[in-house]
Amino acid sequence: MKKLKKRSWAEPWKIKVVEPIKMITKAEREKAMKEAGYNTFLLKSKDVYIDLLTDSGTNAMSDNQWAGMMIGDEAYAGSKNFYYLWDNVKKYYGFPYFVPTHQGRAAEHIISQIMIKPGDFIPGNMYFTTTKLHQELAGGTFVDVIIDEAHDPESEHPFKGNVDLQKFKDLIKKVGAKKIPYVSIAGPVNMAGGQPFSISNLKQVKKIADKHGIKLWLDATRITENAYFVKERERGYKSKSISDIILEICSYFDGIWVSAKKDLMVNIGGFLATRNKKVFEQARNMVVVYEGLHTYGGLAGRDMEAMARGIEEMVNYDNIHARVGQVEYCGTKLEEFGIPMVKPFGGHAIFLDAKRFLPHIKQDEFPAQTLAAEIYIDSGVRGMERGVVSAGRDKKTGKHHYPKLELVRLTFPRRVYTQAHIDVTVESVAEVFSLRKSIKGLKMIYEPKYLRFFQARFKKIK
Ligand SMILES: *Cc1c(COP(=O)(O)O)cnc(C)c1O
Repeated sequence: MKKLKKRSWAEPWKIKVVEPIKMITKAEREKAMKEAGYNTFLLKSKDVYIDLLTDSGTNAMSDNQWAGMMIGDEAYAGSKNFYYLWDNVKKYYGFPYFVPTHQGRAAEHIISQIMIKPGDFIPGNMYFTTTKLHQELAGGTFVDVIIDEAHDPESEHPFKGNVDLQKFKDLIKKVGAKKIPYVSIAGPVNMAGGQPFSISNLKQVKKIADKHGIKLWLDATRITENAYFVKERERGYKSKSISDIILEICSYFDGIWVSAKKDLMVNIGGFLATRNKKVFEQARNMVVVYEGLHTYGGLAGRDMEAMARGIEEMVNYDNIHARVGQVEYCGTKLEEFGIPMVKPFGGHAIFLDAKRFLPHIKQDEFPAQTLAAEIYIDSGVRGMERGVVSAGRDKKTGKHHYPKLELVRLTFPRRVYTQAHIDVTVESVAEVFSLRKSIKGLKMIYEPKYLRFFQARFKKIK
């Protein structure tokens, strides 16, 4: 008789509403991919079977969040949902001041404009696309100070999101602390493969920053996943709650910006929060120029209600355990087929290592872009490129940045797909892997000026 080695876990919810999906034929998928210029961002969602493009705004809200939508107070000024959300930001992130925005990048825009002067340098634990762009548009230069292990897909370091203290000190020495308005920390680090930072590293960064009068700002978009990894991996945190860990992390920062489309499990929303009254007052003034009055920031009252309730759900251990558990389930299955991936598995996504998957395709011919297109053609599963296309061009030389990591991200929306969807995805990646030698690269035929990965178009190399 078969003996159980370990017991399974299951999601802490059941399904009440379903949205039908359908797989179109292979010939139709080939045509759709060609028409989309081999860019998965340009596919029509009706042509996608399992959508792992992003976990941004694609989450399933709970019955409690949907119920909250019905009590939206759509007053132009002073909506009650705004005050409830503000209370929850204070309670769960620990900041007294709060400004809502329509998305995360709107908060990034405001923070960057307030904090950065032309000629400044902003050190960070690897870049994020929209974060870096807003820092550059404000006249700053982003400097990557993440540890070297983050650039190595095979390193099993438990905290690949950590800052390299020496790199940080070297930058202070080189440009002077006066030219560094803040350190820009994110966790888990998306571009490194969803890798967390540790609290002990954060404390050391804070010590150096304090010594030089440099502030710390946090991209807290995915902070729940980082807190989960701290609980699992960092000594001294096993018995702490997710909520306590988030509060501790935030206590080291002057402020945060957040895309609510991730951890908060809503379809739209963002905010910034800070303990700095001066920054708050400037931000509250800027938001009326770019977003809307400071009590709605580009959002409807009902959106703010769903966000407030989402914060209460995001800190639930069973929820975050199931989320990260689904990513781990997918990674473990792919490993059985020998698929090259970034290790350890990330908090929100599996990152396929396109350099090792398609070693015969040069980085100039976009291996990750190619792989994402091939997986879609095989099964209608949509992932996205996180490699040379996402990295963009050097501001000065105009040449491509060639990141060490050339990845395809398969991202899991929260509470959306079942284990069977994951099995279908794994089998598709395995099928493409078995045919990899016959796959050819791509040529870029259209390139927009900003954030080119969203809209660039490609053609197959014959
Ligand atoms: C999504 C995201 C952003 C940008 O937020 P939007 O809501 O998409 O504008 C910024 N930082 C991180 C880490 C993100 O994941």
